[in-house]
Amino acid sequence: MEIDVLTLFPRIFEGPLEESILKRAQSRGLVVVRVHNLRDFTHDKHRVVDDKPYGGGPGMLMKPEPIFEAVEKFRRTDSRVVLMTPQGSPLTQARAEEFSRVAHLIIICGHYEGVDERVRAALVNDEVSIGDYVLTNGALAAAVFVDAVVRLLPGVLGDENSADDDSFTDGLLEGPQYTRPPEFRGLTVPEVLLSGNHEAIAKWRAEWARQRTRERRPDLLKED
Ligand code: SAM
Repeated sequence: MEIDVLTLFPRIFEGPLEESILKRAQSRGLVVVRVHNLRDFTHDKHRVVDDKPYGGGPGMLMKPEPIFEAVEKFRRTDSRVVLMTPQGSPLTQARAEEFSRVAHLIIICGHYEGVDERVRAALVNDEVSIGDYVLTNGALAAAVFVDAVVRLLPGVLGDENSADDDSFTDGLLEGPQYTRPPEFRGLTVPEVLLSGNHEAIAKWRAEWARQRTRERRPDLLKED
């Protein structure tokens, strides 16, 4: 997969790329991420990227020209152009899986009051929100989106870190997990997990996943 990120603040986005699994995925060639400064697509002395909204109102809007120029430079026939916006469809595990099958993503990060509507109308294939709250800037949202998508690419998580049991993957939350020691401050690990009986362990985990989902996210259970 290849990803081009368009932002006014490349450094915000770069931090998450330089650590841990995202860093390793890039160095192993499983994903290529390029971060571009939208100011590089302006042509005036002051590299202006924003202007006042027509009709008045508070704040500034991102101008269409630099965004159009950047998208048109990077867009290919297999690209999906994604706008980060609180008005988009919420990011879910199912959507992250769908995006992980795209060859090339172009991600537009908004700032100020957002972007000129003509960007949505003419360039954008998908609008993605990371939740019902408003951030100052799309680069943070894009970092969350890229992390959720890239960890699902084949080979990015080793077996020891497989996404198969993660919450939401099978529609349920994951159940409780324990590591050594078997007893800590009087708190013990459930016997069954120490038993070596794989069938019993799988049954215990399935029951707990269901119970935890029922308690915390009953909306995820279709027939309960
Ligand atoms: N005025 C816009 C509105 O009410 O929809 C909000 C603009 S917000 C201050 C600035 C930028 O941050 C947005 O253009 C978007 O790129 C990003 N952003 C903020 N909240 C977001 C969210 N929940 N999900 C995705 N992107 C978000």
